Amino acid sequence: ATPMSIMTATGRGAQAGVLIKNAEALERFEKVGTLIVDKTGTLTEGKPRLIGVFAEPGHDESEVLRLAATLEKGSEHPLAEAIVDGAEERGVKLGSAGEFEAVTGKGVKGTVDGRPVALGNIKLVQDLGLQADDLTNRANERRDAGETVMFVVVEGKIAGLVSVADPVKETTPAALKALHELGFRIIMATGDNERTARAVAARLGIDEIRADVLPEDKASIIKELQGQGEKVAMAGDGVNDAPALAQADVGIAMGTGADVAIESAGITLVKGNLDGIVRARRLARAAMGNIR
Ligand code: ADP
Ligand code: MG
Repeated sequence: ATPMSIMTATGRGAQAGVLIKNAEALERFEKVGTLIVDKTGTLTEGKPRLIGVFAEPGHDESEVLRLAATLEKGSEHPLAEAIVDGAEERGVKLGSAGEFEAVTGKGVKGTVDGRPVALGNIKLVQDLGLQADDLTNRANERRDAGETVMFVVVEGKIAGLVSVADPVKETTPAALKALHELGFRIIMATGDNERTARAVAARLGIDEIRADVLPEDKASIIKELQGQGEKVAMAGDGVNDAPALAQADVGIAMGTGADVAIESAGITLVKGNLDGIVRARRLARAAMGNIR
């Protein structure tokens, strides 16, 4: 590409809210074959809503929700916000939060009204030495509907579960179709459960999924693909995504996401949706076309 064609492409990109860091990012993006997209906040709105609450025998639903929501007041995770807002909408009065600890990629634990409470995915349940057998069928039903299930543990026993759903962004289906037409193989990476991920991916026609991914694993997935000779772009929004964005041949940050994600990226999408990736690919092709 000529310096002129690159300037034209980056200038057009900027006007459309697609910020391309430098010529290398543009040149590399034209060669990318595999696009990894984070689910939460990238494919989806990142604003999940509380859908269901279920209590084990001997517990009641509003108490399960109250304990979960009180604990989540200490978390900034979008799932936490969904649970707190959902509790408030349902008129549940929150208790008093004590200790609090976030367990990355798994959930949260602490105390509510002096009682130990934990909330998170099956990995968290297993870390606590518990099994969720009784709730497996119910949990799978929710996951097959694309919901994220979190188990509520009170005083060392599973008391119930809460489920939330994160709506797919309006722009996502059409953008994915265009990205396929532009030749990308699309992989969705998520910390979410395999079953939930599969349900969402099936609806969107995504080629492959990597589920149950811990934040630190995203960079390793990219390295593995690069080891097979793939050129990989990664689109994500979270603080946790920064190492993966840096590892990718081209990191793509949602402008609506965390600052460190933006700093680690070669391309930033101001509008925070996948349309910007379609645009970036077309610009890269146009710029590189000049030397062919
Ligand atoms: P993603 O990669 O989809 O953005 P995260 O790595 O942030 O997901 O979280 C992965 C999983 O860890 C969630 O699906 C959830 O099960 C659990 N988790 C993380 N944070 C919380 C929280 N504050 N409350 C409950 N569960 C959580
Ligand atoms: Mg995320």
